[in-house]
Amino acid sequence: MKVIKFGGTSVGSPERMKKVADLVANENAIVVLSAVSGTTNALTEIAQLLYKNERNLAKHSIQGLLKQYHSFVTELLSSEQQLTKAKDMIESHFSHIDSFTEDLFTIHEEKTILAQGELISTALFQLYLEEKGINSCLLPALDFMRIDKDLEPDNYYIQHNLERELKLCHSKLYITQGYICRNVFGEIDNLKRGGSDYTASLIGAAIQASEIEIWTDIDGMHNNDPRVVDNTFSIESLSYDEAAELAYFGAKILHPASVYPAQLRGIPIWLKNTMEPNKLGTKIAKEIEEREFTAVAAKDGITAIKIKSGRMLLAYGFLRKIFDIFERYKTPIDVITTSEVAVSITIDDNTNLDAIQEELSYLGEVEINKNLSIVCVVGNFSHESMGSGNQIFDSLQNIPIRMISYGGSQHNVSIVIETEYKKDALVALNNGLFNQN
Ligand code: ASP
Ligand code: MG
Repeated sequence: MKVIKFGGTSVGSPERMKKVADLVANENAIVVLSAVSGTTNALTEIAQLLYKNERNLAKHSIQGLLKQYHSFVTELLSSEQQLTKAKDMIESHFSHIDSFTEDLFTIHEEKTILAQGELISTALFQLYLEEKGINSCLLPALDFMRIDKDLEPDNYYIQHNLERELKLCHSKLYITQGYICRNVFGEIDNLKRGGSDYTASLIGAAIQASEIEIWTDIDGMHNNDPRVVDNTFSIESLSYDEAAELAYFGAKILHPASVYPAQLRGIPIWLKNTMEPNKLGTKIAKEIEEREFTAVAAKDGITAIKIKSGRMLLAYGFLRKIFDIFERYKTPIDVITTSEVAVSITIDDNTNLDAIQEELSYLGEVEINKNLSIVCVVGNFSHESMGSGNQIFDSLQNIPIRMISYGGSQHNVSIVIETEYKKDALVALNNGLFNQN
């Protein structure tokens, strides 16, 4: 059995949702759907208004969204019977959302509100399949998808409960919600923004799927960021490691966490385009294509922290003391470069920056730089090969470079620059590494 996931834009209009139905009608698969595009953002805004106690504004937004769904269903469905079912379903979800405008608003209410997007999109999709006479079963993600106390997927729970759910209903085609799950307390939670890809991969691993397909609105992973650079091209195949690096360092097409569960079980991931279903897309698998440069990606919102200390000279344990501080504040580190008297570290989460800075200041002189980007070049740079570094830095000769990390893995060279130079850097690399002008 396959797992096939469709993102928000793929189900973003009644017309597109119908196309998705055509694509999966004859499949033996679990279909994972995101919320209709724009919905999770709208629900996030409603939650923000409720945190601020702006109840009237929140009610107004809820009504606005409800109206959009009313016109969505009238275009999606034609039979009176299905229309009535769909309208009742939508009304009940929206009155649930509306009920949170009355009382104290906490993170639990927020998570319940955020879950409604996927619950609605999957229910609508199933009503449409029913109308078309396509047999399918709806698997409630809240009955099998779960995270543990460390917010990591509880794979044992997922596998066993999913198996049970699959046995409860007989069909070749199953539909389920991406993104949503329960937490260790059994409360409604989610896998963070963009988490539907992760759902697909976790399900794929749990059922040992033959493949996982992630359908979006672009024809696979590109060699460079198509939003920033012209003349990018789709990559035919990627290794899991390359895909994980690219997803983490800014390629928005895939949630970075979604590579690992598939990699562990050796399940190929295909990135496909709903607008051009006949195009091959990108295959992510174990085998690596022989090539030097695969792709570049960039991640913004990076802060660099430099810690300079004479005490580091010839000392051991200094790095541990630094890492300890980041660990205590649950702040992941992306890039590290060291010299004998200083360490530079980048982070993308500034939530605890002040506290981290304060604690680091006991270890040495601390310097903070914000508004940086990590440009990540992914490829195969084996320790024996020559010239890759040269080609990268030749391309970037006119870009001021803040940090370089080479050799951490054979697949990645990371370069930290000021975000204002990002576009120039990506264009220069497109030219210098891929001959794309
Ligand atoms: N609907 C969620 C979001 O917009 C999850 C997803 O689409 O992957 O982030
Ligand atoms: Mg996505």
